[in-house]
Amino acid sequence: MALLQDKKGIIIGVANRRSVAWGIAQAAHREGAQLGFSYQGKPLLKRVKPLVDSIDAQFLEPLDASFDSQIDRFFDSVKERWGTIDFLVHSIAFANRESLKGEFIDTTRQDFLTALDISAYTFVAIANRAAKIMNKGGSMLSISYIGAIRAVPNYNVMGVAKAALEASTRYLALDLGPKGIRANVVSAGPMRTLAASGVSGFTKYLNVYGQSSILGRNISQDEVGNSCIYLLSDLASGVTGEVHYVDAGYNIVGVTPRHE
Ligand code: NAD
Repeated sequence: MALLQDKKGIIIGVANRRSVAWGIAQAAHREGAQLGFSYQGKPLLKRVKPLVDSIDAQFLEPLDASFDSQIDRFFDSVKERWGTIDFLVHSIAFANRESLKGEFIDTTRQDFLTALDISAYTFVAIANRAAKIMNKGGSMLSISYIGAIRAVPNYNVMGVAKAALEASTRYLALDLGPKGIRANVVSAGPMRTLAASGVSGFTKYLNVYGQSSILGRNISQDEVGNSCIYLLSDLASGVTGEVHYVDAGYNIVGVTPRHE
């Protein structure tokens, strides 16, 4: 049987075909899930709609997660259509471009607040609404990066936001455990996406990763999607509050291995 057969899930964060969320969506569709999507604003609609139509999405609704009212409206609409859900994917992040280059010490108060708000708090706010309609055995997931636990040049305030996202996930797991709902994070290696292009020197990251990871290469969107399916499915019914690395082993490297 397919791993997500008869499960209904919401995926937040598809912007285009390179999005991490799109990799997860394709894998979830392959595994039999019924899917509903959000898009951030009108300019993204023409990119997102043909993608989600191609995997028989049941709905596509607007959601700018910086507004509580829009989060409420989105989940009211999900409840009206489906009644309950089985899983949620939060794959969104944002920081002012200016704060993703140069020195972290120069981060302004406003840039700090924006990055933490959109990249970490929105998972809390969305989880709050999702939990109210999530079935027992449900699973929530967000996407992080190693900048949460290591200092990565130019990643700056986004690293602080990812640390907050990972810590928030542990507290969400604590709250949701008694309801039989799990919350986890996938920490992914770098991939060329719209969001990644905002980080100064990103191409250099890709090269360093490719050369330094245990597998001697970068990871693909499909590999992240497939690992997320494990955490969203009942296969991971005993796993919550975890940060699961999908980074070709980069995070465990002590000394860079030699790849012949
Ligand atoms: P992306 O640009 O394709 O996706 C980012 C998404 O965030 C977009 O869909 C955008 O609409 C959404 N978003 C931003 N602000 C929003 C708001 N206020 N309301 C609603 N949606 C909003 O880039 P991506 O790389 O797929 O990013 C997805 C997640 O993966 C992010 O959390 C990112 O930090 C994480 N991640 C990416 C990489 C990478 O190298 N690409 C590595 C590790 C983690």
